[in-house]
Amino acid sequence: MNIHEYQAKDLFAAAGIPVPKGKLARKPAEARAIARELGGKVVVKAQVHAGGRGKAGGIKLAATPEEAEAKATDILKMSIKGLPVRGVLVAEQLDIAHEYYLGIILDRAAKQPVIMASAAGGIDIEEVARTSPEKILRHHVDPTVGLRAHEARRICFAMDPRGEVALQMAAILIKLYQVYARTDASLVEINPLVVTKDGKVWALDAKVNLDDNALYRHPDIEAMREDEDPNEAKARQMGLSYIKLDGEIGCVVNGAGLAMATMDVIKAFGGAPANFLDIGGSSNPDKVLTAMDILATDPKVKAIFFNIFGGITRTDDVAQGIAQALAKRKPAVPIVIRLTGTNEEKAREILTSIGLSATTQMDEGVRQAITAAGGTPRPVGAAG
Ligand code: GDP
Ligand code: MN
Repeated sequence: MNIHEYQAKDLFAAAGIPVPKGKLARKPAEARAIARELGGKVVVKAQVHAGGRGKAGGIKLAATPEEAEAKATDILKMSIKGLPVRGVLVAEQLDIAHEYYLGIILDRAAKQPVIMASAAGGIDIEEVARTSPEKILRHHVDPTVGLRAHEARRICFAMDPRGEVALQMAAILIKLYQVYARTDASLVEINPLVVTKDGKVWALDAKVNLDDNALYRHPDIEAMREDEDPNEAKARQMGLSYIKLDGEIGCVVNGAGLAMATMDVIKAFGGAPANFLDIGGSSNPDKVLTAMDILATDPKVKAIFFNIFGGITRTDDVAQGIAQALAKRKPAVPIVIRLTGTNEEKAREILTSIGLSATTQMDEGVRQAITAAGGTPRPVGAAG
């Protein structure tokens, strides 16, 4: 789950990290009122689940409350990376002397959180990572011990050798690590962390991504859910695991392991999956219906591929779900089905009655799906 900057800043502030004063506005007039409270000079910031708001024009400075209202009017009409802006953070302006980057993410390969710090913050950190990786310092933390004060100081003195700056940063880093650990985050990020001209360090931006599997431990954070992608919301409410990807083959699969194997096999044959979607072990027709609804609204999907291995899952349930979904709304793209296992004969009867067929072999199904999506399956053989 992602939360907005203003919500992440609330978490930061509660942990004692200095953040500029500010409030969320849903309407231009509210932005003006907040700006007046803050003394007039403010920054108006789009609240959307997308990075690069600055570059997209979603962050604007205003010198007066009237100007804040005008900028808020503009920004509240925008969409950034396809996401409509439904709120703006109106915050006091800071006099920035330098911008740094500070983040903590989970390094799955190392099984440890890794702190990333750089004096080249503010701009696209991915770009810095690509073109000059030596400008980013990485430090792994032993999660059973936590971040120790001397580690934090070493990292921060490397970012800025001035003691009065580095020590403020180290105090922030320790608190940032506390936020990361306490909220079961997968990422916490301050970009930019800034030093103002009067020598004070602030979190000017804030990003927190949370681990969905740990949210049950944090009802207060779960309550912050806002502006969720409609398809992700649908999937979550129906108990489907759904992750959108960039390819053209929409996948509906029972079981996470099979779903991953399906994506691998599609890739091996030269195709690209449009999503990961696990309808679960004991599938019911409603889940299939929801899955088809989700894929039908993804403009990138050029074919829908069902890969069903019936164990606990009854394949006739899935076939029933497909029949019901098609009766309701026929997707504009072709459907390819691989289906085998429990109640297979019954499932086939149902599919035949609606004019569909199914292969029993996964590789054959994948080849058909790639062809149906307008591609040509690559031979998979000795070359692997
Ligand atoms: P992002 O583009 O979505 O990452 O949004 P940020 O919050 O990181 O803001 C982008 C840039 O806008 C920052 O790097 C700053 O250069 C600038 N900016 C944001 N807030 C302020 C502010 O209060 N004062 C000044 N002078 N610049 C700001
Ligand atoms: Mn930023």
